[in-house]
Amino acid sequence: MTQFSLGEFRPVTDHVYVAVAEPASVNIGLVVGPSGCLVVDTGSSPEQGAALRAAAEAFAGVPVVAVLATHWHFDHAFGLAGFAGVPTYAHETVPSWLAHPGAREVAESLGVPFDALAAPTRTFSLARVIDLGGPRVELVHFGRGHTDGDVVAIVPDAGVIFTGDLLESAGPPAFGSDCHLKEWPSAVDGILGLVAEDTILVPGHGAPMDRLAAFQQRAEISGLYGQVEYLIGRGVKQEDAYAEGEWPFDETTVREVLPLAYAELAAAGIVPRRQLPLA
Ligand SMILES: [Zn+2]
Repeated sequence: MTQFSLGEFRPVTDHVYVAVAEPASVNIGLVVGPSGCLVVDTGSSPEQGAALRAAAEAFAGVPVVAVLATHWHFDHAFGLAGFAGVPTYAHETVPSWLAHPGAREVAESLGVPFDALAAPTRTFSLARVIDLGGPRVELVHFGRGHTDGDVVAIVPDAGVIFTGDLLESAGPPAFGSDCHLKEWPSAVDGILGLVAEDTILVPGHGAPMDRLAAFQQRAEISGLYGQVEYLIGRGVKQEDAYAEGEWPFDETTVREVLPLAYAELAAAGIVPRRQLPLA
């Protein structure tokens, strides 16, 4: 039985808060302005989304006037239906993912009725600005990475960026079959380009990160892809790659990523070739 629960909102900086929702330990962001608040990510079910909305409004004392799903994954977007009547924002790729058989499978495994899920009502390709009656929040898609539709929420006056799962501090980033390994570091570069020394990065899962931690994770993701590319260039097959390579992540993570990386490189025409002995 999946346990759904929502932790308390805790301050990140002045007027920016985060709460943790289970079952996926996902960070739920809250940005509070004088006339309304923005919720970043929605939890894993419509009921959890509704509970989140009620908790946010009770805590902030102003209505939820906007919601962002940072990407389509269940722990971020399955709560959208709990925000009926509120503009809900996401990248333009999100609705089709939420209608995809893969989303149905996840919903069923969680005991969430697939038909109860809602799509975001305001989708966009690049950027949107949310006005909370003072503080402004910028929603930006920096390109493909963890998914093809990751959106970050930038709160300039607070020096906080909600990064979704482009960054994670609870463990290695989540490399799923819908990620884009080669492009992922460039999406993180979009974030890094806005980061000052004291900017606080709130990842999709885990404690807030600083600039250095984000740079390091960007380098690790890039290094993982680069290592696979190098091994393929040397003719190393997928089944031998783990033993042959040097890796920035633990064995379980690397073994999960290898088939994805080999497939992504094969799609670009890069495959291991048998190296003929030199005559
Ligand atoms: Zn995710």
